[in-house]
Amino acid sequence: MLTTLRRIVLEFSQEAELQNALERMVYRVKKAMQTDCCSIYLADYHHQHFVLMASDGLAKSSQGQVSIGFSEGLVGLVGQREEPLNIADAQQHQDFVHAPEVEEDEFNAFLGTPIIHQRKVLGILSIQQTESRQFTENDEAFLVTLSAQLASALANAEIKRLLNLHQDKTHSVKQLQGIAGAPGIALSEIIVCQPQADLAAVALKKSTNTEQQQLRFEQALEKTQQEFTQLSDKLSESIDDDSLAIFDVYKQLLEQASLGKEVSANIAKGWRADSALKLVIEHYISQFEAIEDSYFRERATDIRDLGTRLLVNIQQQATEELRFPTQFILLAQDVTASMVAQYQHNGLLGIISLSGSNNSHAAILARSLGLPAIMGVNAIVLSQLHQQRAIIDGYTGELFINPDETLVSEYQYLLSQENALTDKVVAVANLPCVTQDGHKVEVLLNAGLSAGFEHSAKLGALGIGLYRTEIPFMNRHCFPSEQEQTQLYQQVLAVFPDYSVTMRTLDVGGDKSLPYFPINEENPFLGWRGIRITLDHPEIFLVQVRAMMRANQELGNLEIMLPMISSVEEVDEAIRLINQAFFEVQAELTKDTVTQLMAIDQGNKYNFEQAQVKAQARSEKLIKPKVGIMLEVPSVIFQITALAQRVDFFSVGSNDLTQYLLAVDRNNSQVASLYDAFHPAVLSALFSIAQQSLAQNTPISLCGELASHPAGAILLLAMGFDKISMNGHNVPRIKWVIRHISLSQAQHILSHTLTLSTTKAVHSYLNKQLENLGLGGFIRAGS
Ligand code: PEP
Ligand code: MG
Repeated sequence: MLTTLRRIVLEFSQEAELQNALERMVYRVKKAMQTDCCSIYLADYHHQHFVLMASDGLAKSSQGQVSIGFSEGLVGLVGQREEPLNIADAQQHQDFVHAPEVEEDEFNAFLGTPIIHQRKVLGILSIQQTESRQFTENDEAFLVTLSAQLASALANAEIKRLLNLHQDKTHSVKQLQGIAGAPGIALSEIIVCQPQADLAAVALKKSTNTEQQQLRFEQALEKTQQEFTQLSDKLSESIDDDSLAIFDVYKQLLEQASLGKEVSANIAKGWRADSALKLVIEHYISQFEAIEDSYFRERATDIRDLGTRLLVNIQQQATEELRFPTQFILLAQDVTASMVAQYQHNGLLGIISLSGSNNSHAAILARSLGLPAIMGVNAIVLSQLHQQRAIIDGYTGELFINPDETLVSEYQYLLSQENALTDKVVAVANLPCVTQDGHKVEVLLNAGLSAGFEHSAKLGALGIGLYRTEIPFMNRHCFPSEQEQTQLYQQVLAVFPDYSVTMRTLDVGGDKSLPYFPINEENPFLGWRGIRITLDHPEIFLVQVRAMMRANQELGNLEIMLPMISSVEEVDEAIRLINQAFFEVQAELTKDTVTQLMAIDQGNKYNFEQAQVKAQARSEKLIKPKVGIMLEVPSVIFQITALAQRVDFFSVGSNDLTQYLLAVDRNNSQVASLYDAFHPAVLSALFSIAQQSLAQNTPISLCGELASHPAGAILLLAMGFDKISMNGHNVPRIKWVIRHISLSQAQHILSHTLTLSTTKAVHSYLNKQLENLGLGGFIRAGS
């Protein structure tokens, strides 16, 4: 049964045309379930009815013609109840509606299941039978499982259909919904960047230039064959002949006479090279996967691998032909922080990522650059949006393709308001950050995700509250040396010579990976991440900490922060290593100074002992940096006292604390609506952390995204956070907010907020308070 199910779903998603896919599916289901009729109805929310799209059993002429209101008939009932309906004698049911045009008089048994995607009913799948009988539990289970699997394929197909409509400019603008990743608005042309070949993401498209497509495929084929030859030559000494044979299979499949020939035949029919390849490869995969024998089923993986390699080479050529306009919106399957960094000064106006969520590091980087971003716009076929004109609304997560002039001018107006707000806050960014009743709060900068943050010093930040060191580790082929790191950290410390700069030790893992240090885990956010990696690799940790200390010799403004601490033992071990690094640097400094003094003096003025005394005195001036930890794993909330005895400061990482407290992966768009730092449980955890830290006299700051939210900053100020740290774009905004409220007003808002029990109530109360304070203009700016 599972094989049949898989095959039906696969065939459905492979069909280029939705109508063909639906017709084929009802035919397949009717056959598999040995029944007399199978039909599918799709919801039309505009007209509030279900349209009969395809049926094998009902009158063909009613396809696309007959509709049933959302609250009408048995189909409507399935939609309303959002559960299966299994009726032995449908004609006798009180909700049955007789529709002569569908010609269903002979059918009595009815089983209908809703097709639901992300809580929305997309359609109804039904089967009917002449014999009056209850369908079995197995039938019901089959149809429910099939509907659940069809849901996302159908959502994809629906979006494809919408986008195809957009290509016809006469149609009105359509809108897609994603997750608001970074506030702001961008109006521009979309450029699709496809770093990873993915057959599933290839949209089936025709081309008018068959010759060019044929050439592109032949070149890709040749390149892939060469790659396999090189690979098998390279491996021939280290693997056995049986394993090597797989390369022969690949090479044979690639021969023009075999798979290659089929692709060429599709190109000759007018398909683009990537589409032609997709059709052939997916056909082979579905055939192999349908075979019961597990050996052959496994071969489907080989075919997929082969297809992907070919696709890489086809797309490589297409990318080489890609030209970036002077201004554009970047769209990719998975926009990473390093992609944003790569394009940031090259005309990038906004970002659309099909995966990821609003606390992915790409979104955090976009916020720090003031670039609007929409994340998790799933179910789009990338290439369909290439070079389309679009508006992205980073406040609401809405994406408009081919917007009309009215929409464009509406958004241009919003954009001008947004720019006016920026000008207003930047103009007074250097005024002191005090509340109206004289309470001081330090607003600091989060840096490290992007280069060129020096200008932020001018935006009124009082130092760096979080320097994420992992990004400089990313765009490379191996770990940076101690010398390279020292130079980089010197530059960072020099941006704020008069203020402290908090550098976080390497926090890779989760959604931040290093190309030369791959970590493959089922559950990366609960896995080998942050301090867990660096304690397991003291050689990496020691080099980094030594480089930080060397860089600190001149200015002495460094503070070191440890990420992802979940136990006291981790802190003890890290502090032991930090002390070791300090004594090593001190000893090396003494040695270097002695050598220098002796060399300068050539032994005349100093004897060795004198030089050593002088060097010793110099190295004693080396400042031992303060050490703090990030509070971002819930366990630490219950160990504040023990931790406070070991470290100099705490900084809350509210991004991770929210994810771990609420058990919501910050990078998963599927659960994005559940991720919210204003959840009452998160707020009360923050309040408890602040109170405990104050009781321990340990300075407490917060460097997660909550600090850059106007309402978040007000609550943190009232809770007693000494410092809040955020991206440069928001520093002047938050300073403005703090200067326009008093501590007592903030405390009043906090005490009421803490009595609320739902996230929704918290948001609506806080928004109302911002309005009352005359800070309504900042609501849209909230992340
Ligand atoms: C956090 O978790 O809140 C944080 C500041 O660190 P990152 O976003 O880099 O995990
Ligand atoms: Mg974190």
